[in-house]
Amino acid sequence: MSEENQNKLEYKLGTEVVRIEYEDKWGASVPPLYQSATFMAPDIEHMGMYDYTRSGNPTRTVLQRHLAKIIGCRQVWAVNSGMSCLDVIVRLLHPGDEVVSGDDLYGGTDRLLTYINNNAGIKVGHYDITDTELIKSKINKKTKMVILESPTNPLMKIVDVKTIAQYAHKINPDCIVVFDNTMMTPINMKPLKLGVDIHYESATKYLNGHHDVMGGIIATDSKELADKLYFVINSIGSGLAPFDSWLMLRGLKTLALRFERQQSNCIKVAQFLEDEGFVVHYPGLKSHPQYELHKSQTKGPGAVFSFETSDVKLSERIIHNVDIFHVTVSFGCVNSLISLPCKMSHASISPEVRKERGLKEDVIRICVGIEEPDDLIADLKQAIDAARKGIEN
Ligand code: PLP
Repeated sequence: MSEENQNKLEYKLGTEVVRIEYEDKWGASVPPLYQSATFMAPDIEHMGMYDYTRSGNPTRTVLQRHLAKIIGCRQVWAVNSGMSCLDVIVRLLHPGDEVVSGDDLYGGTDRLLTYINNNAGIKVGHYDITDTELIKSKINKKTKMVILESPTNPLMKIVDVKTIAQYAHKINPDCIVVFDNTMMTPINMKPLKLGVDIHYESATKYLNGHHDVMGGIIATDSKELADKLYFVINSIGSGLAPFDSWLMLRGLKTLALRFERQQSNCIKVAQFLEDEGFVVHYPGLKSHPQYELHKSQTKGPGAVFSFETSDVKLSERIIHNVDIFHVTVSFGCVNSLISLPCKMSHASISPEVRKERGLKEDVIRICVGIEEPDDLIADLKQAIDAARKGIEN
């Protein structure tokens, strides 16, 4: 099924996210929802453009084309979660292949890569992605995939995407460089333009923006990779459901608005915590050791950061005491969120491995929403003051 992007960006991204292109004979002002598993064939000898929703659905097509336009790539496939993206992508590998990846990956990514390492005859190595020379030294002729994430989460480590992608292709032109762009979104970063082969994102986060849909998107400029990825998605049936595609289209219209507000709020909140004396990990602060590298490959620092309190109990009390922030895993929602990664999103990584990778137990992750920044800062201030006095609400 080919539905390659023919559209070029005509306007700025903030305009294009709202301008969804589709056809409807009634002129509906939002894209129609085709909540249908099957489509009638014109006659027994000819199938129409769509026959079965596992293989293709008009609402999903509108979403995929819209995203391809926003990302500026040949093809986007929409699947039912961010983890499904990675599941589809790693099926391009064969036993005997090697994978080079980071050591501060999202916990679910780490879990799936550990599974294929232990069960699929594929060797996966995890290294400090801030050390470009180390990563280069691990890439060899057997390296068939490099899986990168930047900024990592929760430690906000930055990877030099262009240098690593170029080097991997030089050593092995067949090597597929994969980039998880969930933290930056196409608003801040276009990894394909930096030499990456496959860009994927958990659309559950900013692309949808309201924590009411699970989804994932896979983008590529290569027809060969697009066809191979489609084969897997169609075979296993992981394409995004019509209603979820429709909700995703609705969420996408406010992506630029939401993300810009979340990012500007985040800069203020992170600065407040740094001024309070905490060690803050955020590429939007000049104290971040890779501030310049991040700035050189993105349009902004995003809306997630973490900070250390040096005391697990203090961290737990701060989280108990906040009022506006929801205590939940995930990020990218319009609401501000707070979590203790070692007990929540990264609990699937063993304490020993977490320690080895520098993820301290007291690290608090904050994902900033669209609320008033002064209210967010006031809420954190009261939670910290109470926690320092030993109070736990
Ligand atoms: N990548 C990153 C960076 C994530 O944070 C997550 C989920 O938290 C995923 C991928 C997986 O996405 P999903 O939860 O939609 O499967």
